[in-house]
Amino acid sequence: MAPRAKKPPRPLIIVGNWKMYKTIDEACEFIKTLAPLIEKSQAAVYLAVPFTAIQAAAEITPTITVGAQNMSDATEGAFTGEIAARMLKEVRAQFVILGHSERRHLFHESNAFINRKVHRALQEGIQPLLCVGETLEQRERNEVREVLKEQIFQSLEGVTKEQMGEVLLAYEPVWAIGTGKVATPEQAQETHALCREIVAEAWGKRVANKVVIQYGGSVKPDNAKALLSEPDIDGLLVGGASLTAPSFNEIIHAYQGDLT
Ligand code: PEP
Repeated sequence: MAPRAKKPPRPLIIVGNWKMYKTIDEACEFIKTLAPLIEKSQAAVYLAVPFTAIQAAAEITPTITVGAQNMSDATEGAFTGEIAARMLKEVRAQFVILGHSERRHLFHESNAFINRKVHRALQEGIQPLLCVGETLEQRERNEVREVLKEQIFQSLEGVTKEQMGEVLLAYEPVWAIGTGKVATPEQAQETHALCREIVAEAWGKRVANKVVIQYGGSVKPDNAKALLSEPDIDGLLVGGASLTAPSFNEIIHAYQGDLT
């Protein structure tokens, strides 16, 4: 494998997305197992846990940054079943996943709606982790550039250069999420470089060089290292393989190289 090329210093961030799995007790047990294993890890470790487990998870250890998987675009109001950024802050959520493909596809979230959530998160001091990615049909029709450009431009419309320093991006090809089909490191690298180009077009090269772009889609202990060795892949967003402490721990420790 080619060594990871020198690149502008960007943090290495590994995020677990637990989706609708784990009770409070299960979350606490997992974190108590994982926390001592990752104290010396080079990677910053984030966990997006179910709403009910955020507070308990955040209180166990400062080693893991705990966040949510979604939130409302409104500050408060008559929105049955929704959760506000202020409420997430109250239980110590530090980041929020926005625009995950399951939200886009199963709950029909548009880029405009996601954009309102991004602004709300930034206003409330919660770090937004914006997910983008194409479907298999869009890839086969050679529409990757257009799709990603539309998602990035529209979901981040109005975000200032300064605010971009707070935003995390995740490239998650829809065809690779939960399917066992992972993008090859070359495919992922090419698309991450493309995302960076798109960011540069709107916010300039300096912002683009700094933005952390994670890869997500069937990441496992056996493919994590090759993905992280690519110069534009700054971290991983991990669904299924983040549900057990040993496999998530292996992924967190997959890359032990030069990060600067
Ligand atoms: C995800 O939930 O964002 C994800 C990438 O899931 P998986 O790793 O299971 O494909």
